[in-house]
Amino acid sequence: MRSIDEITRPKEYLPPTDQVMGHIIREWAEKEIIPLRRRFDEDWRNHRIIEPAFHKLMVDMGMQRASFPEDLGGLGMGHSEHLGTSSFRVLEEISRADSGMAVAYGVTFWPLFMICNEPHVNRRLCEEFAPLFCQSDEIRFAANAMTEPQGGADIENLDLLNGSTITTTATRDGDEWVIDGHKLWPTNTGGIAHLFGVVATTKPGSDDPRDFAFILVPADTPGVTQGDPYEKAGMAADKNGDIWFEKVRVPSWYRACGPGDDFKYFKEVISIGNLGSIAMVSGCMLNVYETLQKFTSSQTLHGRPLKENDAVAGVLADVVRDVEVIRITGYQYARMIDRPDLYGERWSDEIVAKGRAYKYFACDRAVEDIAKAMNLMESCGADREWDVEKHWRDLKIIQLWMGGKQLCQMETARWFYVCESL
Ligand SMILES: Cc1cc2nc3c(=O)[nH]c(=O)nc-3n(C[C@H](O)[C@H](O)[C@H](O)COP(=O)(O)OP(=O)(O)OC[C@H]3O[C@@H](n4cnc5c(N)ncnc54)[C@H](O)[C@@H]3O)c2cc1C
Repeated sequence: MRSIDEITRPKEYLPPTDQVMGHIIREWAEKEIIPLRRRFDEDWRNHRIIEPAFHKLMVDMGMQRASFPEDLGGLGMGHSEHLGTSSFRVLEEISRADSGMAVAYGVTFWPLFMICNEPHVNRRLCEEFAPLFCQSDEIRFAANAMTEPQGGADIENLDLLNGSTITTTATRDGDEWVIDGHKLWPTNTGGIAHLFGVVATTKPGSDDPRDFAFILVPADTPGVTQGDPYEKAGMAADKNGDIWFEKVRVPSWYRACGPGDDFKYFKEVISIGNLGSIAMVSGCMLNVYETLQKFTSSQTLHGRPLKENDAVAGVLADVVRDVEVIRITGYQYARMIDRPDLYGERWSDEIVAKGRAYKYFACDRAVEDIAKAMNLMESCGADREWDVEKHWRDLKIIQLWMGGKQLCQMETARWFYVCESL
C-alpha cells in the first residue's frame, strides 16, 4: 500500500523541522487519538477522554507554548520564517486523526498571532500572557471572539464593511477599556478558554478602520460569562458557545496593535485561519484516502479486489487527485504566507482573497469526494467503525465556518475582478 507520505509535499521548501515535528505529532495521534476518537462524540460536554489526550499535546509536548518568543519560554513560532509551512504540517497531522482537536489547538494561537507575530510583536502583552501558556502544568486555551448574533460573515467581510456591523463595544474610561457585547461560536468557548481576543468597535456603526479594536481579555475578568457548549454535528473536541461581556474592564494597553493596526493585522488572522482550514481539510482527506485503500483492497467484487474494477478506480482516482491538489495548494499558500518578500504581506487583500479561494476550493472538493467515498463504501460508509462518516461531518463544518462559502466567493471575485460594492 502507498503511504500518505507519497501524496506530494513541496520538498524544496519544507522547513528542516518538518519531518521531525510531523513524525512526533503523527506518533502522538496514532497512539493517543485514533484509537479513542470514536468515543469523542459522546464526550462533547465533559471532555473526560478528550482532555487527557490534549494534555499530552499541549502540556507534555509543550505545544501550547508555540506562539511566544523563546526568551519568554515559548517556541518562537511568531517570528519563525516557516510559520505557514510548519503550522500546515502540524494541523494536517492532527486533523488526520481528529479535526476537532486540530481546530481547538490552532485557535489557541489565532488571537495570539496579533501580539506574537513579527513585524507587529507587542512585547508588553507577550510578557503579560506568556506565563499563562508557558509556565503552566495545566492545559491553556485561547479563543478568537469575532462572530456575533447578527451575523459572523459581515464581521469578517473587512474589506467591504470595515467592521461597521460590529456591536460589541469598547469604550475608553481613563486607562481602561470597558467592553460590552455578546459573541457566539468561538472555538474553545463553552467554558474552557483562559484568554479571549475580542473583536470590538470603539464607535458603533463606524466604518473607519481606526475604530476596529482587538482587545485581549482574560476569561476570569469580572463581567465575562461563558455559556454551556453547543451540541453540534461533529468536532466534539472543539467546544463552542456564547460569551457575554458586561462592563468588562481591562487595562487600555490590552489592545493588541492600536487604532488602524488592529484592523490591518486582523486580516492576517483571517489569512492564517484559511490556511489552517485547508490543512484540516487535507488531514481529513488523507485519512479518507487511507481508509479507501484498505476498504477497496480487502472487499471483493466478482472475486477481485474492489479497486480492480474500472468504475471503482474512477472514484478512487477522483479522490486521490483532489487530495494531491488540496495538499499542494495548501502548501503553496503556506509558502506565500512565509514569503511576504515574494507574495506580499499576509494581511494584504490579495493574500486574504487567495486564501478564501483556496479554502472554498478545498472544502468543495472534499465535501463532494467524501460523499463519493461513502457511496462506494455503501453501509460501511455510514458505519462509525470506519471513521469516514466522522470526517464527512467534520468536513462539512469546516466548509461552514469563517463566513462560509458565500463570503469566500465574494472576496475572491472582489479581488480578482476588482468589484467595488460586492
Ligand atoms: C465549529 C465552528 C467553529 C467556529 N469557530 C469560530 C471562532 O473561533 N471564532 C468566531 O468568532 N466564530 C467561529 N465560528 C463561527 C463561524 O465563523 C460563523 O458561523 C461564520 O462566520 C458564519 O457566520 P454566521 O453563522 O453568523 O452566518 P451569517 O453571517 O449570518 O450568514 C448567514 C448566511 O448569509 C450568507 N451571507 C452573509 N453575508 C452575505 C452577503 N453579503 N451576500 C450573500 N450571502 C451572504 C452567509 O454565507 C450564510 O449563508 C465557528 C463556527 C463553527 C461551526
